Amino acid sequence: MSKQPSSYLSSKLEGRPKAHGSGNGIYALQPIQKGELVAVFGGVVYEWDAFIHLPERDRSLCIQVEDRLFLVPRPIGEGDYVNHSCNPNAGLSGQIGLVAMRDIKIGEEVCFDYAMSDTMPYDEFDCGCGQTTCRGTVGGNDWQRPELQKRYAGFFSPHVQRRIDAQKAEKRAFERAMRSTKAQKFASTLPTPVYE
Ligand SMILES: [Zn+2]
Repeated sequence: MSKQPSSYLSSKLEGRPKAHGSGNGIYALQPIQKGELVAVFGGVVYEWDAFIHLPERDRSLCIQVEDRLFLVPRPIGEGDYVNHSCNPNAGLSGQIGLVAMRDIKIGEEVCFDYAMSDTMPYDEFDCGCGQTTCRGTVGGNDWQRPELQKRYAGFFSPHVQRRIDAQKAEKRAFERAMRSTKAQKFASTLPTPVYE
């Protein structure tokens, strides 16, 4: 490759074709400790309306970085070959950083869960990650799943975290409203006290 890729990949990893065919992946060449920075994504930022008209390859290698903004690698590098897993060993740190969620051994493929970055339906697919936690399909609404919000706490992209926080605040407000309605109903069933 003549031009430097827009993404950074730690020298402890390499991008290479997967052993059984389907595309590329990134693999640990050295042990990686929990919390270590693995990759930093880079590229050109596209708004949704322009992004959806890009070639499929660009769309599949990109990462969603804001509500309607997508980072597309230019030029593509090894760091852009990070795949999805429903039982990932890496998560996001900010919008474009990838860090190890646990210790990673030599030879392991490093993956994150696309639910950590995606809120739009641009890259939905049937998942064949083979993990016991595999949810079968990966889509733009997966970030709303309570079990994923719990499992990936601290590893969501900031724009996804904002939506999770807003959703939780809305739920709390609804529950408060329900409680006060119930309390009012209960109060109205009590006999009116008579003071003499
Ligand atoms: Zn899966």
